[in-house]
Amino acid sequence: MKYPEYIGEIIRRFEACGESAYIVGGGLRDMMLGIEPHDYDIATSALPKKTAEIFSDKHVIETGLKHGTVTVVFDGEPVEITTFRIDGSYTDMRHPDSVSFTDDITLDLSRRDFTINAMAYSPSRGLVDPFFGRADIEKRLICAVGDPVKRFSEDALRIMRAYRFSAQLGFSIDEGTLDAAMKMAEGLALIARERIANEFFKLITSGDPYRSLVMMQRNGALKYVLGEYEPSDEILSQLCKMPAMVPARMGLLLSRADEDTAREILRSLRASGKQTTGALAVARGACLKTASPADARRLFALVGIYAEHAALASELLEISPSGAYEMTKRQADTPTSIRDLKVNGKDMAKLGASGRLIGDTLSALLSMVVDDPTLNDREKLLALAEETINKSKGN
Ligand code: ATP
Ligand code: MG
Repeated sequence: MKYPEYIGEIIRRFEACGESAYIVGGGLRDMMLGIEPHDYDIATSALPKKTAEIFSDKHVIETGLKHGTVTVVFDGEPVEITTFRIDGSYTDMRHPDSVSFTDDITLDLSRRDFTINAMAYSPSRGLVDPFFGRADIEKRLICAVGDPVKRFSEDALRIMRAYRFSAQLGFSIDEGTLDAAMKMAEGLALIARERIANEFFKLITSGDPYRSLVMMQRNGALKYVLGEYEPSDEILSQLCKMPAMVPARMGLLLSRADEDTAREILRSLRASGKQTTGALAVARGACLKTASPADARRLFALVGIYAEHAALASELLEISPSGAYEMTKRQADTPTSIRDLKVNGKDMAKLGASGRLIGDTLSALLSMVVDDPTLNDREKLLALAEETINKSKGN
């Protein structure tokens, strides 16, 4: 097992104080898969107060004392250290009523969602794997810890997580676990929207979202994410070809929804302003045929920086001919917004325009320049502007 030096030091410090500590969760799973973990989680028998004492020479953030989590910043890297924990009963189907601490790592592992996420490793004690997570990694299988129906009824977010890990890792979902995910899908209605969105956005930006999305559609989970809107199989199958970013992929996903529906879905998922603007722009442009350089420039004028991804989406949906994406990219530096024009509002005022006529004239000039970029020349534009302004005033 390879891990950074500071992780080894954290575990050694705990052991020197008579406590046990392990690498757990996604970091360990990824290490065993040969993927570089994006972070490491440590579980320990030490109570949070003791953890804070052991690392009093470091920057310690009391992240979630109630849940036993303390963040220690080691060489600039935040490491979450959580006391071994048992979750009490889940009467509301999303949060445990209480959590209690334990010094038994196996009890801590038994509250975790899937066998591949329920292992622990320490250099002195080796791998603790009571639920055979290593075997499931070898079988490439997502399998709930314990009875999947019970586990999904405790916290239905785990259903989303099963589909998300399946997409990210390219693993299958164990038959019993998948069956329970189907039976228990209704529980998703009780889960906070941002938790659902967090898992869903990870799923759609993964390497292989298609299979998971088809399963979610078939098993009744997707409607708890997208409501009544049902993306076609064509859309789902092309998603992996979009850049792995939320605006690009949500844009293609929502491209056959009307704009109000798309906006409402993004709002319900608590998408950020940037994600919303981007996804709506890509969705809008995805429906347009971009077949010529002038079309590509018009697309830039319509959706700005999202034009390239919009063109890619429309090419994937076979609305635009193949090559539309590359062609659109080649138009990226041409003038496509009023800011790119070689004249401005002051010039229009000097020519006698005022109020709305200034903006209207600039828009008219832009549309001429988008059709023919060689018109973006100060002299030519001033002449065209004069003509336009005089005509408007004459009317
Ligand atoms: P990622 O690579 O996305 O961080 P992860 O497995 O580390 O994946 P986290 O959400 O960071 O996922 O959670 C860390 C660990 O906590 C998981 O590996 C799992 O053991 C446990 N866990 C997280 N969420 C749940 C949940 N809803 N129910 C049970 N256990 C959970
Ligand atoms: Mg993690």
